[in-house]
Amino acid sequence: MRNFRLCGALTGLVLAIVATLGQPSRAAIPTAAAEYAGRALSFYNDSADPEQHQVIAAAQKSHLAERMAALVNTNLYLRANLEVGFEACGKRANASFQGKRRAIVMCTEFINLVETVAHRDQDFMMRLPKEQRSKMIDGLIWGVFFHELAHAVIHIDNVPITGREEDVADQFSAWFPINFIDTSRKSVIAPTIWFWSQLAMRRSLNSMSVEQRRRFMADEHSLDEQRIYNLACWYYGSGSEEGVEAARLAKLTSERAPRCAIEYAQLDQGMRSAFGKFFKTKPLRATR
Ligand SMILES: [Zn+2]
Repeated sequence: MRNFRLCGALTGLVLAIVATLGQPSRAAIPTAAAEYAGRALSFYNDSADPEQHQVIAAAQKSHLAERMAALVNTNLYLRANLEVGFEACGKRANASFQGKRRAIVMCTEFINLVETVAHRDQDFMMRLPKEQRSKMIDGLIWGVFFHELAHAVIHIDNVPITGREEDVADQFSAWFPINFIDTSRKSVIAPTIWFWSQLAMRRSLNSMSVEQRRRFMADEHSLDEQRIYNLACWYYGSGSEEGVEAARLAKLTSERAPRCAIEYAQLDQGMRSAFGKFFKTKPLRATR
């Protein structure tokens, strides 16, 4: 399985990243500049493991962490520095915001997992044009990054939230790209839906032991299936053309779909209210 490279997916993903992220910034007002002097800083922590080293080298070659940091610095005020980068994490195949380090860590094992999932779903992936395959994986990595960025901003800027932070981070991961990048050129949400769908498909609650199910249900995250429908609903409710495609991909139900515009409008208001003061740039869209 490891020799499968999805037509050079990893290299492709880091090379094919659309260089349109980030928007021109407005001049920071002096008080904000003083209060929010934090900057995002990129890092790559190399690994002695050849497989993980390969991932880090590919990410480094494409300046992926630098571009993630640049997007943050262009668009967001931070009270303290935030590190953004890639490293091997051992058994954990994920991405996370680590509060003590003030770092968004994209684990190389997570990139490997993405490749594995893409390999398993060859039928779907191989139907896509070659360029689309790379964009799919690239968009997923950015989508996951935006989720972690929400955690980072919440903690560093002390954003008041109620309810589950994981759900707020999911909301941010949909709302931010819709409002700060050109989603007609760079798809972020649909790839995330695809990835969660693949993970959900391979997990069976029925085959879990009682203890496994207890741990699974006690987790802070909403169930993968719920996250898929939420993302699809918000994207669809935003009224963007790509949202229609995402709803189709997620098989959003006809019961929920008509309510999504209202859901998105609430989300939009909430995001602007909670995060608005930390944006250096104006959202691309007006309030719905
Ligand atoms: Zn999270």
